[in-house]
Amino acid sequence: MNGKYSLYINGQFIETPKKQNIMNPSTGKVIAEVSVASEQEAQLVLASAREAFDRGPWPQLTLDQRKEFILRIAQGILDNAAELAQMETQNTGKPIKETTFMDIPSSAKTFEFMADNFINYLDEAEINIADEASAKVLREPMGVVVLIVPWNYPLLIACWKLAQALAAGNTVILKPSSLTPLSILELAKIIHKIGLPPGVFNVINGSGQELGETLCSDKRVDMISFTGSNEIGRQILQYSSKNVKKSIMELGGKSASIIFNDVDLEVAVNSSLVSIFLNQGQMCTAMSRLLVQDQIYDRFIESFVKKAKSIKLGLASDYETQMGPLISDAQRKKVLSYIEKAKAEGAKVICGGKIPENQELKNGYFFEPTILADVGAHSHIFKEEVFGPVVLINKFSGSDEAALLANSVDFGLAACIWSKDKILAQELAGKLNAGTIWINTYGMFYNQLPYGGFKQSGFGKELGREGFLEYVRFKSVICDQSKEGKPLVNYWYGF
Ligand code: NAP
Repeated sequence: MNGKYSLYINGQFIETPKKQNIMNPSTGKVIAEVSVASEQEAQLVLASAREAFDRGPWPQLTLDQRKEFILRIAQGILDNAAELAQMETQNTGKPIKETTFMDIPSSAKTFEFMADNFINYLDEAEINIADEASAKVLREPMGVVVLIVPWNYPLLIACWKLAQALAAGNTVILKPSSLTPLSILELAKIIHKIGLPPGVFNVINGSGQELGETLCSDKRVDMISFTGSNEIGRQILQYSSKNVKKSIMELGGKSASIIFNDVDLEVAVNSSLVSIFLNQGQMCTAMSRLLVQDQIYDRFIESFVKKAKSIKLGLASDYETQMGPLISDAQRKKVLSYIEKAKAEGAKVICGGKIPENQELKNGYFFEPTILADVGAHSHIFKEEVFGPVVLINKFSGSDEAALLANSVDFGLAACIWSKDKILAQELAGKLNAGTIWINTYGMFYNQLPYGGFKQSGFGKELGREGFLEYVRFKSVICDQSKEGKPLVNYWYGF
């Protein structure tokens, strides 16, 4: 066991009587015990974050002072990168190669990027409005921001939100998923050592169903940034409507990858495997629908299935492992039930579809990479998010048909286009109803680019100038410049 973890509130680690065991999904073993917050700690964290914003030094620091803190957080993550990667792997079942080369360095990079760029984004702007008045727009922090994150990229998604929120001068209450709080609680230790003023960064662990309403409806909170499922997103919007507050919703997806006849088949197959099976398919931007053009359809399937069967399942801590376990037994049951339902609706399982028989993996929540063919566009699995290693392959003839199929679901998070014809690909990108489109690549996120979905995939952006400015409020200041100091309003009643 890695030990015991406490909540982090107002610059202090707080142990509570209620505890929760944290599991390793590769082995089914307990790896840590974490304190769980009650209503009392929820009230304490709300009061602390509010106090730190209203009366603490953080929002008043000069931009250079704040930048210094943000850069030290980035360095703290890098200094502890190996331990954080191991911890994330143990807690999520994500293969160690992924946490080492993606999650942890990317988490640090977002802090660096925000530190190096946010000053430019916070510049106040003089706006020319009229001869009789001057005006400027001030950019201020929103205030107290509640960040609620899922279990699939626990540290990375938390760091995206946190880097933006802190750089903008907000104080933060971070609620990790109950399944995966460990890396975030390790980050709390790093931030504590750096010496951020008390109450600026707080972590509250506990069940979202129990704490959510208190955190998201309270008047002391100015903004909520949520990443997770649609179901919970809708609940949070209801809570937040009680005291009207800004929200960002990064929700689910059912993304399509459109693969044209003219592609380099090997590149398209290799990349499409990653676009669904990375992190066991537990990615909001997983390309869970492959739309393949008719002439290459059979050859694509043959190669895709052959390679999918050779993906190496194993303990997430092993560097050779290509696919680890799902996050929990409940998640695996959900995946299985989707496959059963798809079969009942006529889908054919052409690869996987079951729990692996390998004895070494019997205690973890493993599941085979699964490929379904003959899936009707009206079936449940074509439209709903499975959030596991399950991909559907459908055939299309022309680009309009592909766009129609890709856009035919309620989600609008991301899409891929694979074609050597870049003009066609760019034109198609314009027709797709999704917030991120990758052409001849997949999965690259850049701190410079806003990320976020359309339709039921949510609203608001993360990253980029647009994402950063979500955490900023705009204040217009208008100052009279009329001759003799007599503005128009002075004459209105004719006195
Ligand atoms: P989830 O069940 O919606 O949970 C997300 C977070 O919300 C967790 O911290 C959870 O806490 C909390 N929560 C649960 N009930 C709550 C309530 N009533 N009030 C406030 N918070 C509450 O999602 P998940 O299963 O962790 O993650 C998978 C989902 O996230 C998928 O749908 C995926 O597509 C989506 N996702 C989207 C993006 C994106 O960028 N669009 C990125 C990653 C994941 P507990 O753990 O305590 O329940």
